[in-house]
Amino acid sequence: MSPKQLPAPGVDTYFPGHGDARYRVHRYELALDYRPGPNRLGGTARLSAVAGTEPLREFALDLAEFRIGRILVDGRPAHYTHRAGKLRIRPAKALAAGAAFTVEVHYTGNPKPVRSQWGGLGWEELTDGALVASQPVGAPSWYPCNDRPADKASYQISITTPSPYTVIVGGRLLTRTTRASSTTWVYEQAAPTSSYLVTVSIGPYETLRVTDPAAGAEPLRRVPQTAYLPTPLMPRFTHDFGRQPQMMHLFEELFGPYPFGEYAVIVADEELDVPFEAQGVSTFGTNHLDGVRGSERLVAHELAHQWFGNSVTIADWRHIWLNEGFAKYAEWLWAERSGGRTAAQHAAAAHAKLAALPQDLRLADPGKKLMFDDRLYERGGLTVHALRCALGQEAFFRMVKDWTAIHRHGVVSTADLVAHAGRYTDRRLDTLLNAWLWQGPLPPLPVAT
Ligand SMILES: [Zn+2]
Repeated sequence: MSPKQLPAPGVDTYFPGHGDARYRVHRYELALDYRPGPNRLGGTARLSAVAGTEPLREFALDLAEFRIGRILVDGRPAHYTHRAGKLRIRPAKALAAGAAFTVEVHYTGNPKPVRSQWGGLGWEELTDGALVASQPVGAPSWYPCNDRPADKASYQISITTPSPYTVIVGGRLLTRTTRASSTTWVYEQAAPTSSYLVTVSIGPYETLRVTDPAAGAEPLRRVPQTAYLPTPLMPRFTHDFGRQPQMMHLFEELFGPYPFGEYAVIVADEELDVPFEAQGVSTFGTNHLDGVRGSERLVAHELAHQWFGNSVTIADWRHIWLNEGFAKYAEWLWAERSGGRTAAQHAAAAHAKLAALPQDLRLADPGKKLMFDDRLYERGGLTVHALRCALGQEAFFRMVKDWTAIHRHGVVSTADLVAHAGRYTDRRLDTLLNAWLWQGPLPPLPVAT
């Protein structure tokens, strides 16, 4: 076994109760049934996992309140306790270090959001249907998982629900089978996926293929783009998301090939505070459509997360700025390349805004309380801009493309980015990056030299 396959050491300091670093899961197979009326979810989760460097007498999964039918480890009944969102499992026989094993959990119940300082996370009942927005720790609201971003796995998700509903899960739709009044949707997400990026949307949605009307001859490779939304929103959507194919084109040029097989956008029939990214999917609310592209920067932001966050994933939540800084910068790059303000103008505006706010945010380890603070997004974008100014245009984009290629479907930290960026210049970046990443006071506005 190569060191890469071993579980990363340590515990997430922001969410010490989540995840278990003593083993890793490489595949989840979920076979679930959902009834929207009574909001009832049940079925089986089958996990294929590998023990770490120590033998395992017991191990833990994260799962909110559900009634557990039975739990099997390697096909044999296992003892367990289930308290405070933690499912502690003791196999009949201890698992040897490095041993591959399977866990099967049969469960049923009424899923509800996990409470957090940011409101409810995870499974959320809608007026007509449901959606899942788990970042950062909502995944256990609907399935048993090793809930740490670094433990990425492939997924097969099968959901049976009443036939009038459309079910969207990231990845490729393998089959859709209707029996009596229920339909079973089976999706496969082959790319390694963090638990917080697994989503489900169930609703009365119409399906729309998103194509680029401006594109003449078919390019060699095109990412299939699909939208799911309530029919009445169709005209606004076609206008507001009309430039998404060009965005995809630009980001592939700047960040390298799109990391997944397809991209889907959902507009839920509900207002959402913020849109959110999942693996191969982004979900928006009705309030993000206004017919005048008022939220286009968010269309760019969520798409950029497919590279930054979803393919190149943070080792733990301290490094959240790597997701949000690059996604924010992608907004500025899109604006710059689509006839709007330049990235330098956006940087100047963000700098002026931050200069007037408290300067107590440590970007590279903001603490749980500030991990989704607005300032983290703006300062993250500025830090990426500072790198562009320090490296120069050509080296900067080479650095970014190599970053997404080297760490494609992998796990990274701030230290990895600092070391990586250093290879693209003869200048020392320590002082500059230390000021942006680790100190509170706002460094001067970066300018291209
Ligand atoms: Zn974001």
